[in-house]
Amino acid sequence: MKRRNFLTNLGATTLGLAFLQDVKANGLNSAAMNFLQNAGAVGRVVVVGGGMAGTTIAKYLRLWGGAGMDVTLVEPNATYYSNIFSNMVLTGERSLSQLAFTYANLKSKYGVKVMNYSVTGLNPGSKSVTLSNGTVLGYDRLVLAPGIDFIPIPMSGSTMNREKIMHAWKAGTQTTTLKSQIQGMTNKDTFILTIPKSPYRCPPGPYERACVVADYLKNAKGGGKVVVLDANDKIQAEPVNFGNAFNVTHKSIVTYVPNAVISNIDADTSTVVTNLGSFKGKVINAIPSHKAGNIISMSGLGLNNSADARWAVVDVLTYESTAIPFVHIIGDSSSTTQPKAGHIANAEAKVCADAIIKMFQGLQVNQSPITNSSCFTPITKTTASFLTVVFRYDPATRKMMPTGAGVVESNGYNSHHYEDMLKWFNNLMSDTFS
Ligand SMILES: Cc1cc2nc3c(=O)[nH]c(=O)nc-3n(C[C@H](O)[C@H](O)[C@H](O)COP(=O)(O)OP(=O)(O)OC[C@H]3O[C@@H](n4cnc5c(N)ncnc54)[C@H](O)[C@@H]3O)c2cc1C
Repeated sequence: MKRRNFLTNLGATTLGLAFLQDVKANGLNSAAMNFLQNAGAVGRVVVVGGGMAGTTIAKYLRLWGGAGMDVTLVEPNATYYSNIFSNMVLTGERSLSQLAFTYANLKSKYGVKVMNYSVTGLNPGSKSVTLSNGTVLGYDRLVLAPGIDFIPIPMSGSTMNREKIMHAWKAGTQTTTLKSQIQGMTNKDTFILTIPKSPYRCPPGPYERACVVADYLKNAKGGGKVVVLDANDKIQAEPVNFGNAFNVTHKSIVTYVPNAVISNIDADTSTVVTNLGSFKGKVINAIPSHKAGNIISMSGLGLNNSADARWAVVDVLTYESTAIPFVHIIGDSSSTTQPKAGHIANAEAKVCADAIIKMFQGLQVNQSPITNSSCFTPITKTTASFLTVVFRYDPATRKMMPTGAGVVESNGYNSHHYEDMLKWFNNLMSDTFS
């Protein structure tokens, strides 16, 4: 198979890998694939968070586990806006409504109960959660997939000016506000993008943002400046492709500054103060450091038990918390060797779904899970690059370890990869929400 066809299909094929392994292992025939039949798994699962990880696991618990699986998804919003492709909303190439997904299929096709509330309390002693409307839901297994929350950057200035500084790192109103700010720029203006120290969600995402904003300024405004203030010592993903993008394709626009640690943002003068000096811009897009979703980091239950106390450590055979039994954590909130990204969140959800079903069935969980991650990145309006990596469980370290050459970046960026990017996105979102 040609390399790019392979990568376009990678999402679809590896997304279904666990299912195919199951079919192989258990000799399931097509009749047994009817998800509404009882697969012998009986249990109540509450899933918290209807993003890339939570929606996928809710679907696959029912699809693979069958009618005996009582699955409730708790998510405050009726519509999910995809972060993936949200950088293209900033440049007008996509609208936010094109990135909107609902839970209709989850309910009608898979029989998942969806409750549009937030979870406000975790009660592992009674194996229950409390919702924002006061409802208490009991579970046999709880899956937490609340994504990320932020650690605020020190900021001075009036409230009005401070509120103008967007992160736009969760797609929604911040995305459209930042879009308006960028569209208000002229070719004399500077866009400042700050990148937090790793780990943060979507390693290539900020560099992608710098590229598409630079491309937009060049084409729509005839110039302008993009200053990238990176708290890391180097580009965190696709160093060759982004290096070329910054030094060749967007050379006249982008200035990349590594090791830039922010001490303050003065919102009144629109100035970012760092250890390397002060940088003034017309628009400041400040992405703060991340931590696990608040329900984890503020629960007081010790779920955020990683070395830097921001993330939740899990056993990657099951994604069960190492701190609290019967609680599983998937997606960006968990601390694993895998990146914080939507594609891998989808894969983690499937490994976790498979493990929970097997535990309900009284079977041994898969001892050699495989996951993969891919990120496609628009570099201009018509070209894209990508990275991909496959992880395999290593029993010696009990971690997911990259296989082969590790993270592989595409050999440059071009229009073919751009077309593949569109197919990859459709595959991934359809596997998650359809
Ligand atoms: C600009 C940008 C570009 C990106 N591009 C890519 C890409 O190309 N490829 C890729 O793989 N990834 C990409 N990502 C990363 C990807 O979007 C995230 O890694 C992914 O969404 C993580 O999934 P998640 O389910 O952990 O979190 P989310 O998708 O953020 O979902 C979390 C959900 O939990 C809900 N929630 C939170 N707290 C509660 C609570 N207390 N009760 C109930 N519900 C709650 C939230 O409302 C939300 O719906 C990108 C991210 C950004 C910002």
